[in-house]
Amino acid sequence: MRLITFTQDTAPRPGLALSDGVGLDLAAADPSLAGGWPELFSDLDRIRRLAQRYVAEGTEFDATGEAGSIAPPLLRLSQVRLLPPVLSPSKIIAVGLNYRDHAAEQNKPLPAAPLLFSKAPSCLQAPHGPIEIPAELVRVDAEAELALVVGKRGRAIPQERAAQHIAGYMCLNDISDRAAQYADRQFFRGKSLDTGGPCGPWLVTPDELPDQALGLRITCHWNDVLMQDSSTEQLIFTPHFLISYVSSHMTLLPGDIITTGTPGGVGVFHKPPVFLAPGDVVEVAIAGIGAIRNPVVRWEPTP
Ligand code: MG
Repeated sequence: MRLITFTQDTAPRPGLALSDGVGLDLAAADPSLAGGWPELFSDLDRIRRLAQRYVAEGTEFDATGEAGSIAPPLLRLSQVRLLPPVLSPSKIIAVGLNYRDHAAEQNKPLPAAPLLFSKAPSCLQAPHGPIEIPAELVRVDAEAELALVVGKRGRAIPQERAAQHIAGYMCLNDISDRAAQYADRQFFRGKSLDTGGPCGPWLVTPDELPDQALGLRITCHWNDVLMQDSSTEQLIFTPHFLISYVSSHMTLLPGDIITTGTPGGVGVFHKPPVFLAPGDVVEVAIAGIGAIRNPVVRWEPTP
């Protein structure tokens, strides 16, 4: 299933993407499902049966949602605004240097253990929302990443049981202010820019993906330029390992995000380095999951 959070100028609502163009409004289909993700992660079996009913009843729609008869609780995804699939995680844990090709481009040896850092949960941005850059920040970079969302609480989770704790996978763009990241000699400020965590477009449940979402092509386009082009097969530490490793020190809660690191090709390691500027459009795509596409805009304080 593809789990979405959307708005029609209403409070955020949970839903499913039944195809690229057609969604199901869960609260309209069943008012007992009005709570959002991650609260509904424990109801996924019931939600799956509900979704199958709409598909099985032969509801008339085409994959794009542009034709056919679509009435509530079905909706055209082109007529709603998708939001981050989870809105308020207790934490976003990120991994530095977790792709073999990214280590190679920095001439660094493969790490013996994951380097963890955090992004402030307030950085999350919608899958098509703007990346807002204040004028004084001139070294802002993009990082295409596979992110997982925790579905079930756990502490000290053994790798063999990690799968039970993953609600799904999504794309995440780990927007990075390299100036702050390098000046501070740690990552928190540089990785926590407001709007610096676009994610989505939906959360794909693990049953629809290869084991641990490995072997998927992951790309990042800046405008029409292909900047990053790799495979999640290049991951040094896999999603199940990371669940176990992170939870050995902190309890993972439903909705928490672990973003697994970025492959080679980021702007700062280009020769010469390149950075995002207003007017750019960045697209992060992962085969089997989907794509997020975000315009870069100048942020001005409101007078
Ligand atoms: Mg990163």
